[in-house]
Amino acid sequence: MDKIKMTTPIVEMDGDEMTRILWQYIKDELLLPFIDLKTDYYDLGLVKRNETDDKITTESAEATLKYGVAVKCATITPNAARMKEYDLKEMYRSPNGTIRAILDGTVFRTPIKVKGIDPCVKNWKKPITIARHAYGDVYKASEMVIPGPGIVELVYTDADGNVTKVPVHEFTSPGVVQGMHNLNRSIESFSRSCFNYAIDQKQDLWFATKDTISKKYDHTFKDIFAEIYEKEYRSKFEELGITYFYTLIDDAVARVMKAEGGFIWACKNYDGDVMSDMISSACGSLAMMTSVLVSPSGVYEYEAAHGTVQRHYYKYLAGEETSTNSVATIFAWTGALKKRGELDNIPELMSFAENLERACIDTIESGKMTKDLALITELENPTVLNSLDFIKAVRETLVAACQ
Ligand code: NAP
Ligand code: MG
Repeated sequence: MDKIKMTTPIVEMDGDEMTRILWQYIKDELLLPFIDLKTDYYDLGLVKRNETDDKITTESAEATLKYGVAVKCATITPNAARMKEYDLKEMYRSPNGTIRAILDGTVFRTPIKVKGIDPCVKNWKKPITIARHAYGDVYKASEMVIPGPGIVELVYTDADGNVTKVPVHEFTSPGVVQGMHNLNRSIESFSRSCFNYAIDQKQDLWFATKDTISKKYDHTFKDIFAEIYEKEYRSKFEELGITYFYTLIDDAVARVMKAEGGFIWACKNYDGDVMSDMISSACGSLAMMTSVLVSPSGVYEYEAAHGTVQRHYYKYLAGEETSTNSVATIFAWTGALKKRGELDNIPELMSFAENLERACIDTIESGKMTKDLALITELENPTVLNSLDFIKAVRETLVAACQ
Protein backbone atom coordinates (compact mmCIF):
# COMPACT_ATOMS: atom_id res chain seq x y z
CA MET A 1 0.00 0.00 0.00
CA ASP A 2 1.34 3.45 -0.93
CA LYS A 3 1.73 5.85 1.95
CA ILE A 4 -0.56 8.89 2.00
CA LYS A 5 1.30 12.02 0.95
CA MET A 6 1.03 15.35 2.77
CA THR A 7 1.78 18.80 1.39
CA THR A 8 1.95 21.08 4.45
CA PRO A 9 3.47 20.02 7.77
CA ILE A 10 1.50 19.71 11.00
CA VAL A 11 3.17 21.43 13.93
CA GLU A 12 4.08 18.57 16.29
CA MET A 13 4.50 19.46 19.97
CA ASP A 14 5.98 16.53 21.86
CA GLY A 15 5.50 16.35 25.63
CA ASP A 16 6.27 14.58 28.88
CA GLU A 17 6.11 11.35 30.87
CA MET A 18 3.60 8.60 29.98
CA THR A 19 1.97 10.61 27.23
CA ARG A 20 5.40 11.06 25.60
CA ILE A 21 5.75 7.24 25.57
CA LEU A 22 2.25 6.89 24.06
CA TRP A 23 3.12 9.59 21.51
CA GLN A 24 5.98 7.48 20.11
CA TYR A 25 3.89 4.26 20.13
CA ILE A 26 1.12 6.05 18.21
CA LYS A 27 3.52 7.39 15.59
CA ASP A 28 5.29 4.04 15.17
CA GLU A 29 2.19 1.83 15.07
CA LEU A 30 -0.63 3.99 13.72
CA LEU A 31 0.81 6.84 11.66
CA LEU A 32 4.24 6.21 10.11
CA PRO A 33 3.30 2.86 8.48
CA PHE A 34 0.44 4.58 6.61
CA ILE A 35 1.35 8.24 6.09
CA ASP A 36 4.38 10.03 4.70
CA LEU A 37 4.10 12.12 7.83
CA LYS A 38 5.26 15.71 7.47
CA THR A 39 5.66 17.56 10.75
CA ASP A 40 7.42 20.63 12.04
CA TYR A 41 8.68 19.08 15.29
CA TYR A 42 9.03 20.91 18.62
CA ASP A 43 10.05 19.08 21.75
CA LEU A 44 8.02 20.66 24.56
CA GLY A 45 9.29 18.05 27.04
CA LEU A 46 10.44 19.78 30.22
CA VAL A 47 14.13 18.96 29.62
CA LYS A 48 14.12 20.79 26.30
CA ARG A 49 12.03 23.68 27.64
CA ASN A 50 14.62 24.12 30.39
CA GLU A 51 17.51 23.94 27.88
CA THR A 52 15.93 26.64 25.72
CA ASP A 53 14.67 28.86 28.58
CA ASP A 54 11.20 27.90 27.33
CA LYS A 55 11.77 29.64 23.98
CA ILE A 56 10.80 26.40 22.24
CA THR A 57 7.21 26.80 23.49
CA THR A 58 6.91 30.26 21.96
CA GLU A 59 8.49 29.00 18.72
CA SER A 60 6.00 26.13 18.50
CA ALA A 61 3.09 28.56 18.89
CA GLU A 62 4.54 30.87 16.23
CA ALA A 63 4.91 27.89 13.88
CA THR A 64 1.24 27.10 14.55
CA LEU A 65 0.27 30.60 13.43
CA LYS A 66 2.32 30.01 10.29
CA TYR A 67 1.01 26.55 9.35
CA GLY A 68 -2.47 26.69 10.91
CA VAL A 69 -2.66 23.21 12.48
CA ALA A 70 -0.85 21.76 15.50
CA VAL A 71 -1.05 18.60 17.60
CA LYS A 72 0.16 18.74 21.20
CA CYS A 73 1.16 16.03 23.65
CA ALA A 74 0.42 16.62 27.36
CA THR A 75 3.19 18.50 29.14
CA ILE A 76 4.26 19.06 32.73
CA THR A 77 3.37 22.42 34.27
CA PRO A 78 6.28 22.92 36.66
CA ASN A 79 5.70 23.26 40.41
CA ALA A 80 8.14 23.15 43.33
CA ALA A 81 8.53 19.35 43.11
CA ARG A 82 9.29 19.52 39.37
CA MET A 83 11.88 22.27 39.96
CA LYS A 84 13.85 19.72 41.96
CA GLU A 85 13.07 16.68 39.84
CA TYR A 86 14.23 18.35 36.60
CA ASP A 87 16.74 20.79 38.14
CA LEU A 88 14.95 23.68 36.42
CA LYS A 89 16.44 27.14 35.98
CA GLU A 90 13.01 28.70 36.44
CA MET A 91 9.42 27.72 37.27
CA TYR A 92 8.23 28.04 33.66
CA ARG A 93 4.63 28.93 32.87
CA SER A 94 2.19 26.30 31.73
CA PRO A 95 2.90 25.61 28.03
CA ASN A 96 -0.85 25.63 27.37
CA GLY A 97 -1.02 29.11 28.92
CA THR A 98 1.89 30.38 26.81
CA ILE A 99 0.45 28.88 23.61
CA ARG A 100 -3.06 30.18 24.36
CA ALA A 101 -1.72 33.69 24.98
CA ILE A 102 -0.12 33.67 21.51
CA LEU A 103 -2.91 31.97 19.55
CA ASP A 104 -5.81 33.48 21.54
CA GLY A 105 -8.99 31.48 21.33
CA THR A 106 -11.49 29.12 22.82
CA VAL A 107 -11.13 25.52 23.96
CA PHE A 108 -13.72 23.05 22.70
CA ARG A 109 -14.11 19.72 24.52
CA THR A 110 -16.29 16.84 23.31
CA PRO A 111 -16.77 13.37 24.82
CA ILE A 112 -15.85 10.43 22.56
CA LYS A 113 -18.89 8.16 22.58
CA VAL A 114 -18.47 4.39 22.71
CA LYS A 115 -21.15 1.71 23.14
CA GLY A 116 -20.75 0.07 26.51
CA ILE A 117 -19.49 3.27 28.12
CA ASP A 118 -22.73 5.20 28.18
CA PRO A 119 -23.40 8.60 29.73
CA CYS A 120 -25.37 8.53 32.99
CA VAL A 121 -27.85 10.90 31.34
CA LYS A 122 -29.77 8.36 29.27
CA ASN A 123 -31.18 10.77 26.66
CA TRP A 124 -27.72 12.07 25.62
CA LYS A 125 -27.56 10.17 22.35
CA LYS A 126 -24.95 12.48 20.78
CA PRO A 127 -21.97 14.26 22.36
CA ILE A 128 -22.33 17.74 23.83
CA THR A 129 -19.38 20.03 23.13
CA ILE A 130 -18.46 22.66 25.70
CA ALA A 131 -16.84 25.86 24.41
CA ARG A 132 -15.25 27.64 27.34
CA HIS A 133 -14.24 31.29 27.29
CA ALA A 134 -10.77 31.30 28.80
CA TYR A 135 -10.32 34.94 29.83
CA GLY A 136 -11.34 37.06 32.80
CA ASP A 137 -14.38 37.07 35.12
CA VAL A 138 -13.83 35.45 38.50
CA TYR A 139 -10.45 34.02 37.35
CA LYS A 140 -8.93 37.50 37.20
CA ALA A 141 -10.91 39.17 39.99
CA SER A 142 -9.81 41.32 42.93
CA GLU A 143 -11.34 40.42 46.24
CA MET A 144 -11.48 41.97 49.67
CA VAL A 145 -12.61 40.83 53.08
CA ILE A 146 -14.61 43.64 54.64
CA PRO A 147 -13.91 43.68 58.38
CA GLY A 148 -16.80 45.90 59.49
CA PRO A 149 -19.06 48.84 58.69
CA GLY A 150 -18.05 51.01 55.71
CA ILE A 151 -18.80 51.82 52.07
CA VAL A 152 -17.54 49.92 49.01
CA GLU A 153 -17.68 51.60 45.59
CA LEU A 154 -16.58 50.83 42.04
CA VAL A 155 -14.39 53.69 40.81
CA TYR A 156 -13.46 54.23 37.15
CA THR A 157 -10.94 56.96 36.31
CA ASP A 158 -10.70 57.54 32.57
CA ALA A 159 -7.56 58.62 30.68
CA ASP A 160 -8.39 62.31 31.27
CA GLY A 161 -8.84 61.81 34.98
CA ASN A 162 -12.66 61.97 35.00
CA VAL A 163 -14.06 59.81 37.76
CA THR A 164 -17.25 57.71 37.73
CA LYS A 165 -18.38 55.98 40.93
CA VAL A 166 -20.97 53.28 41.51
CA PRO A 167 -21.88 52.14 45.02
CA VAL A 168 -21.45 48.40 45.66
CA HIS A 169 -22.71 48.17 49.22
CA GLU A 170 -22.89 50.10 52.45
CA PHE A 171 -21.71 47.53 54.96
CA THR A 172 -23.09 47.66 58.50
CA SER A 173 -21.35 44.39 59.47
CA PRO A 174 -18.41 42.26 58.15
CA GLY A 175 -18.61 40.74 54.66
CA VAL A 176 -16.77 40.15 51.39
CA VAL A 177 -16.50 41.93 48.06
CA GLN A 178 -15.23 41.07 44.58
CA GLY A 179 -14.45 43.11 41.47
CA MET A 180 -14.07 41.41 38.11
CA HIS A 181 -13.78 42.39 34.47
CA ASN A 182 -13.80 41.27 30.87
CA LEU A 183 -12.85 42.90 27.57
CA ASN A 184 -15.08 43.43 24.54
CA ARG A 185 -12.20 42.32 22.34
CA SER A 186 -11.91 39.01 24.21
CA ILE A 187 -15.69 38.41 24.14
CA GLU A 188 -15.72 39.18 20.40
CA SER A 189 -12.99 36.67 19.64
CA PHE A 190 -14.70 34.11 21.90
CA SER A 191 -17.91 34.55 19.91
CA ARG A 192 -16.15 34.28 16.55
CA SER A 193 -14.35 31.09 17.64
CA CYS A 194 -17.73 29.61 18.65
CA PHE A 195 -19.52 30.63 15.44
CA ASN A 196 -16.63 29.32 13.30
CA TYR A 197 -16.54 26.02 15.19
CA ALA A 198 -20.31 25.56 14.84
CA ILE A 199 -19.94 26.07 11.08
CA ASP A 200 -16.98 23.68 11.02
CA GLN A 201 -18.95 20.98 12.88
CA LYS A 202 -22.30 21.86 11.26
CA GLN A 203 -23.92 21.88 14.69
CA ASP A 204 -26.25 24.28 16.50
CA LEU A 205 -24.64 26.74 18.90
CA TRP A 206 -26.17 27.51 22.30
CA PHE A 207 -25.06 30.39 24.50
CA ALA A 208 -26.39 31.35 27.90
CA THR A 209 -25.67 33.91 30.60
CA LYS A 210 -27.58 35.47 33.51
CA ASP A 211 -28.39 38.70 31.67
CA THR A 212 -31.72 39.24 33.50
CA ILE A 213 -29.81 39.79 36.75
CA SER A 214 -26.50 41.07 35.38
CA LYS A 215 -27.94 43.78 33.17
CA LYS A 216 -24.60 45.31 32.17
CA TYR A 217 -21.93 42.61 32.55
CA ASP A 218 -23.69 39.50 31.23
CA HIS A 219 -25.85 41.59 28.94
CA THR A 220 -22.71 42.78 27.16
CA PHE A 221 -21.83 39.14 26.39
CA LYS A 222 -25.33 38.56 25.03
CA ASP A 223 -25.25 41.76 22.92
CA ILE A 224 -21.80 41.10 21.45
CA PHE A 225 -22.76 37.55 20.45
CA ALA A 226 -26.03 38.81 18.89
CA GLU A 227 -24.36 41.62 16.98
CA ILE A 228 -21.56 39.50 15.56
CA TYR A 229 -24.02 36.74 14.66
CA GLU A 230 -26.27 39.13 12.72
CA LYS A 231 -23.43 40.90 10.94
CA GLU A 232 -21.07 38.07 10.13
CA TYR A 233 -22.66 34.65 10.56
CA ARG A 234 -26.45 34.55 10.17
CA SER A 235 -26.46 33.89 6.43
CA LYS A 236 -23.85 31.13 6.70
CA PHE A 237 -25.79 29.46 9.54
CA GLU A 238 -29.01 29.60 7.52
CA GLU A 239 -27.26 28.17 4.49
CA LEU A 240 -26.07 25.20 6.58
CA GLY A 241 -29.43 24.80 8.34
CA ILE A 242 -27.94 25.28 11.81
CA THR A 243 -29.13 27.72 14.47
CA TYR A 244 -27.69 30.09 17.04
CA PHE A 245 -29.78 29.96 20.19
CA TYR A 246 -29.46 32.27 23.20
CA THR A 247 -31.18 31.62 26.50
CA LEU A 248 -30.78 32.16 30.24
CA ILE A 249 -28.19 29.93 31.93
CA ASP A 250 -30.79 28.23 34.18
CA ASP A 251 -32.95 27.47 31.16
CA ALA A 252 -29.88 26.15 29.28
CA VAL A 253 -28.96 23.78 32.12
CA ALA A 254 -32.52 22.46 32.28
CA ARG A 255 -32.67 21.99 28.51
CA VAL A 256 -29.25 20.29 28.35
CA MET A 257 -30.44 17.61 30.78
CA LYS A 258 -33.44 16.87 28.55
CA ALA A 259 -31.62 17.22 25.21
CA GLU A 260 -30.34 14.57 22.81
CA GLY A 261 -26.95 16.25 22.44
CA GLY A 262 -25.22 16.98 19.16
CA PHE A 263 -24.73 20.72 19.75
CA ILE A 264 -22.10 23.17 20.99
CA TRP A 265 -22.69 24.90 24.32
CA ALA A 266 -20.74 28.15 24.64
CA CYS A 267 -20.07 29.00 28.28
CA LYS A 268 -18.63 31.96 30.14
CA ASN A 269 -15.38 31.12 31.92
CA TYR A 270 -16.84 29.87 35.24
CA ASP A 271 -19.82 28.12 33.66
CA GLY A 272 -17.47 26.34 31.24
CA ASP A 273 -15.14 25.23 34.03
CA VAL A 274 -18.00 23.69 36.01
CA MET A 275 -20.13 22.35 33.15
CA SER A 276 -17.24 20.69 31.29
CA ASP A 277 -16.44 18.66 34.41
CA MET A 278 -20.10 17.69 34.66
CA ILE A 279 -20.25 16.57 31.01
CA SER A 280 -16.94 14.68 31.09
CA SER A 281 -17.68 12.82 34.31
CA ALA A 282 -21.20 11.98 33.11
CA CYS A 283 -19.59 10.53 29.98
CA GLY A 284 -16.89 8.42 31.67
CA SER A 285 -13.36 9.77 31.60
CA LEU A 286 -10.97 12.55 30.55
CA ALA A 287 -9.15 10.01 28.39
CA MET A 288 -12.36 9.81 26.30
CA MET A 289 -12.57 13.53 25.43
CA THR A 290 -11.29 15.45 22.44
CA SER A 291 -9.95 18.93 23.02
CA VAL A 292 -9.12 21.60 20.47
CA LEU A 293 -8.11 25.23 20.77
CA VAL A 294 -9.60 27.30 17.96
CA SER A 295 -8.21 30.79 17.46
CA PRO A 296 -10.38 33.59 16.08
CA SER A 297 -8.11 33.71 13.02
CA GLY A 298 -8.87 30.05 12.28
CA VAL A 299 -5.77 28.31 13.69
CA TYR A 300 -6.32 24.88 15.29
CA GLU A 301 -4.37 23.15 18.06
CA TYR A 302 -5.44 19.61 19.01
CA GLU A 303 -4.55 17.93 22.31
CA ALA A 304 -5.76 15.42 24.89
CA ALA A 305 -7.73 16.85 27.81
CA HIS A 306 -5.78 14.85 30.45
CA GLY A 307 -2.28 15.36 31.84
CA THR A 308 0.98 13.40 31.49
CA VAL A 309 -0.29 10.51 33.68
CA GLN A 310 2.70 10.73 36.01
CA ARG A 311 1.73 7.77 38.22
CA HIS A 312 1.73 5.41 35.22
CA TYR A 313 5.05 6.82 33.99
CA TYR A 314 6.79 5.97 37.26
CA LYS A 315 5.45 2.41 36.96
CA TYR A 316 6.74 2.32 33.37
CA LEU A 317 10.17 3.53 34.53
CA ALA A 318 10.19 0.80 37.18
CA GLY A 319 9.65 -1.76 34.41
CA GLU A 320 6.07 -2.51 35.47
CA GLU A 321 3.23 -2.97 33.01
CA THR A 322 0.98 0.04 32.38
CA SER A 323 -2.49 0.24 30.90
CA THR A 324 -2.75 3.89 29.90
CA ASN A 325 -5.58 5.00 27.64
CA SER A 326 -4.22 6.53 24.41
CA VAL A 327 -7.59 7.34 22.81
CA ALA A 328 -7.57 11.10 23.54
CA THR A 329 -4.00 11.39 22.21
CA ILE A 330 -4.86 9.37 19.07
CA PHE A 331 -7.88 11.65 18.52
CA ALA A 332 -5.62 14.70 18.88
CA TRP A 333 -3.63 13.33 15.94
CA THR A 334 -6.69 12.41 13.89
CA GLY A 335 -8.20 15.86 14.51
CA ALA A 336 -5.03 17.51 13.21
CA LEU A 337 -4.73 15.15 10.23
CA LYS A 338 -8.38 15.69 9.26
CA LYS A 339 -8.01 19.47 9.48
CA ARG A 340 -4.74 19.36 7.46
CA GLY A 341 -6.44 17.16 4.85
CA GLU A 342 -9.37 19.56 4.66
CA LEU A 343 -7.19 22.69 4.29
CA ASP A 344 -4.87 21.05 1.73
CA ASN A 345 -7.61 19.16 -0.06
CA ILE A 346 -6.22 15.65 0.58
CA PRO A 347 -9.33 13.43 0.95
CA GLU A 348 -7.21 10.28 1.61
CA LEU A 349 -5.73 11.93 4.68
CA MET A 350 -9.19 12.83 5.97
CA SER A 351 -10.58 9.37 5.43
CA PHE A 352 -7.50 7.75 6.99
CA ALA A 353 -8.06 9.86 10.12
CA GLU A 354 -11.73 8.91 10.19
CA ASN A 355 -10.90 5.22 9.79
CA LEU A 356 -8.40 5.45 12.64
CA GLU A 357 -11.02 7.02 14.92
CA ARG A 358 -13.49 4.30 13.92
CA ALA A 359 -10.83 1.65 14.64
CA CYS A 360 -10.35 2.98 18.21
CA ILE A 361 -14.10 2.87 18.84
CA ASP A 362 -14.57 -0.56 17.23
CA THR A 363 -11.66 -2.01 19.22
CA ILE A 364 -13.20 -0.83 22.50
CA GLU A 365 -16.69 -1.94 21.47
CA SER A 366 -15.26 -5.40 20.68
CA GLY A 367 -14.28 -5.62 24.36
CA LYS A 368 -10.56 -4.77 24.11
CA MET A 369 -9.69 -1.75 26.21
CA THR A 370 -7.39 -0.20 28.79
CA LYS A 371 -7.96 -0.62 32.50
CA ASP A 372 -9.62 2.75 33.14
CA LEU A 373 -12.43 1.81 30.73
CA ALA A 374 -12.68 -1.81 31.86
CA LEU A 375 -13.56 -0.45 35.31
CA ILE A 376 -16.58 1.50 34.03
CA THR A 377 -17.84 -0.42 31.00
CA GLU A 378 -21.20 -2.14 30.86
CA LEU A 379 -19.72 -4.76 28.49
CA GLU A 380 -19.23 -8.11 30.17
CA ASN A 381 -15.76 -9.64 30.56
CA PRO A 382 -13.72 -6.94 28.84
CA THR A 383 -10.13 -7.80 27.85
CA VAL A 384 -7.73 -5.43 29.61
CA LEU A 385 -4.75 -4.59 27.43
CA ASN A 386 -1.50 -2.86 28.32
CA SER A 387 -0.61 0.54 26.80
CA LEU A 388 1.19 -0.81 23.73
CA ASP A 389 -1.07 -3.81 23.13
CA PHE A 390 -4.14 -1.57 22.99
CA ILE A 391 -2.49 0.52 20.27
CA LYS A 392 -1.52 -2.68 18.42
CA ALA A 393 -5.11 -3.91 18.68
CA VAL A 394 -6.30 -0.63 17.14
CA ARG A 395 -3.80 -1.14 14.32
CA GLU A 396 -5.18 -4.63 13.67
CA THR A 397 -8.73 -3.29 13.55
CA LEU A 398 -7.64 -0.50 11.22
CA VAL A 399 -5.80 -2.81 8.83
CA ALA A 400 -8.67 -5.35 8.82
CA ALA A 401 -11.19 -2.58 8.02
CA CYS A 402 -9.09 -1.29 5.11
CA GLN A 403 -8.73 -4.71 3.42
P1 NAP B 1 -3.32 13.32 34.83
O1 NAP B 1 -2.07 13.15 34.10
O2 NAP B 1 -4.50 13.72 34.04
O3 NAP B 1 -3.62 11.99 35.63
C1 NAP B 1 -4.42 11.89 36.78
C2 NAP B 1 -4.97 10.48 36.93
O4 NAP B 1 -6.04 10.31 36.03
C3 NAP B 1 -3.97 9.40 36.57
O5 NAP B 1 -3.13 9.07 37.64
C4 NAP B 1 -4.90 8.28 36.13
O6 NAP B 1 -5.53 7.65 37.24
C5 NAP B 1 -5.99 9.04 35.42
N1 NAP B 1 -5.67 9.23 33.98
C6 NAP B 1 -5.46 10.40 33.32
N2 NAP B 1 -5.26 10.19 32.03
C7 NAP B 1 -5.32 8.86 31.84
C8 NAP B 1 -5.18 8.01 30.71
N3 NAP B 1 -4.91 8.52 29.50
N4 NAP B 1 -5.31 6.68 30.86
C9 NAP B 1 -5.57 6.16 32.07
N5 NAP B 1 -5.73 6.90 33.19
C10 NAP B 1 -5.60 8.23 33.08
O7 NAP B 1 -3.13 14.43 35.96
P2 NAP B 1 -1.96 14.63 37.03
O8 NAP B 1 -1.34 13.33 37.38
O9 NAP B 1 -2.59 15.46 38.05
O10 NAP B 1 -0.90 15.50 36.30
C11 NAP B 1 0.32 15.00 35.77
C12 NAP B 1 1.02 16.11 35.03
O11 NAP B 1 0.24 16.50 33.93
C13 NAP B 1 1.26 17.36 35.86
O12 NAP B 1 2.64 17.68 35.83
C14 NAP B 1 0.42 18.44 35.19
O13 NAP B 1 1.10 19.66 35.17
C15 NAP B 1 0.26 17.92 33.80
N6 NAP B 1 -1.00 18.32 33.10
C16 NAP B 1 -0.88 18.65 31.81
C17 NAP B 1 -1.99 18.96 31.06
C18 NAP B 1 -1.82 19.31 29.62
O14 NAP B 1 -0.71 19.36 29.12
N7 NAP B 1 -2.89 19.55 28.89
C19 NAP B 1 -3.26 18.91 31.65
C20 NAP B 1 -3.36 18.53 32.99
C21 NAP B 1 -2.21 18.22 33.70
P3 NAP B 1 -4.95 6.34 37.99
O15 NAP B 1 -3.59 6.73 38.50
O16 NAP B 1 -5.96 6.12 39.04
O17 NAP B 1 -4.86 5.24 36.98
MG1 MG C 1 -12.76 22.49 36.50
